[in-house]
Amino acid sequence: MTSDGGLSAAVSIHIARWAVTGFVALVGLLAGSFLNVVIYRVPRGLSVAKPRSFCPHCDTPVRPIDNVPVVSWVMLGGRCHHCRGPISARYPLVESATAVVFAAVGWGLGPHWAVAGFCVLAATLIALVAIEADGLPPPLSVAGIGTGLGAALLLGAGVADHRWSHVVGLIVGLVVAVALVVIKSPWTSSAPVLLPVGAVLGWLGLASTAEGLATAAAVLVIDRLARGRQVSPDPDRVVISLALASGAVVASVVAVAIGAGVGR
Ligand SMILES: [Zn+2]
Repeated sequence: MTSDGGLSAAVSIHIARWAVTGFVALVGLLAGSFLNVVIYRVPRGLSVAKPRSFCPHCDTPVRPIDNVPVVSWVMLGGRCHHCRGPISARYPLVESATAVVFAAVGWGLGPHWAVAGFCVLAATLIALVAIEADGLPPPLSVAGIGTGLGAALLLGAGVADHRWSHVVGLIVGLVVAVALVVIKSPWTSSAPVLLPVGAVLGWLGLASTAEGLATAAAVLVIDRLARGRQVSPDPDRVVISLALASGAVVASVVAVAIGAGVGR
């Protein structure tokens, strides 16, 4: 290949990376909007499908024009259009945080099928952490469905791309995480948040690299030390879930930076 060919290939990879980042950031805004529904309704035993979103103060259904992620909340000054009751800043925060995390995943991994799986796992972590921030126990259903979908997407990406070490690592990470939750290991809090963390760390090389094992061990030790003996939700648990989720994201960034990510 000539140097011109190499240059244009480098430029098109750069453009593809920007395109992926922009696209997943937009998807992240919409996903964040859905996460807000999950975060409020699932721990309270309500359906995520029905009814449509409504104002918590006056029960008026939210108009589609008032349901645009982040923009509507800003335009309405954080108030219901009907009764002017305050709407929590948590809604635009979750939407923008999801968009930022999705964008980071898109930028970090570039145009690769693993982006979808990582985004689903990141969204699952955001939902679980936000539910704990509400003082409610993170539901196993949210962790299970999110991790199952994210892991299936990563598995598909790994098989399609012949990334066998990632596929094996993913399976090992999932088995370890499920075992910790199911057997209620005395070594951890057995919180459902371990499921998506196990999938992320596993894919990044739990089975193939010392870094993966060291990161997983550190996560479990932090988890154990901080909330191992606690049963009911309390503010400390939120901090630890956030630490677990951030740890998984940081591990992803470090793994990609040192070349242990999807590119290998
Ligand atoms: Zn209202």
